Amino acid sequence: MLYRAEGIVIRSTDYGEGNKIVTLLTPTFGKQGIVVRGAKKLKSRYGALAQLFTYGDYSYYKNGTLGTLNSGEIIESFQELRQGLEGPAYAAYAAELTDRAINDDEAAAYLFHQLKACQTALVEGKDPQIVVKAYEMKVFAAAGYAPMLDECVSCGRTDAPFYFSAAGGGALCRACKSRDPGALELQDGVWKLMRVFLALDMRRLGSIAVKESTKQQLQLALRRWMDTHLNLNLKSRGFLDQLEKYGDLLGMAPNPAPVERRAVPPSEEESKEAGTREDGAV
Ligand SMILES: [Zn+2]
Repeated sequence: MLYRAEGIVIRSTDYGEGNKIVTLLTPTFGKQGIVVRGAKKLKSRYGALAQLFTYGDYSYYKNGTLGTLNSGEIIESFQELRQGLEGPAYAAYAAELTDRAINDDEAAAYLFHQLKACQTALVEGKDPQIVVKAYEMKVFAAAGYAPMLDECVSCGRTDAPFYFSAAGGGALCRACKSRDPGALELQDGVWKLMRVFLALDMRRLGSIAVKESTKQQLQLALRRWMDTHLNLNLKSRGFLDQLEKYGDLLGMAPNPAPVERRAVPPSEEESKEAGTREDGAV
């Protein structure tokens, strides 16, 4: 049967002589595996359609589990995400996370748009650490593992302070904290960001300026969450960790450099452009 779907390539592996198998995330059919014949050949018309991060319109024959590309067109190549070190590292992480956390037939329209927005935000140069953290939260929710953040998972109290319990499923109030000795005490800003990320449509993600200490706590909390509930052992995560740790040795700035002091205050337009701030009303 002939199918047609828009999709983003979240995995691309070599297959036999000159072919590739790609995994697409599609809004209509969830994940789809498709063989792209001759994709590795130099003159292949469809080689670009088999590249990681490509967003295209695919038409393919499918009877069993694996389809075969019939034709296709690139809608957006996301070429920028294949250049340098940082872009590919974060985008590959988002792609692998999607591939591993989402089951094949899970309806994926919302997540598809979130992934596309995630890739777009990375191309636009928004803070990749924040972009990817926001996207992680979308994946957790899509996979059925969203943390409960607004009330104590144990007794239902809604008044802070809370402690973050990965094992418990989210927030624990002070009285219930002893249920999880590993529960984390987090800055208010981290709670705020996690709630925003959970509710946010990535298509509306502005540029969020986040303190380094907030980022570190956010990383710790979400990582503990992911390892407790999804345990995926992602290849791309190790590379990303190396990059964040040693990026400066490679002449990169893994974290955005502090904003330069400027003689002229930003215009109103620019201030608006800066969007929500971590310490403001996010
Ligand atoms: Zn409680």
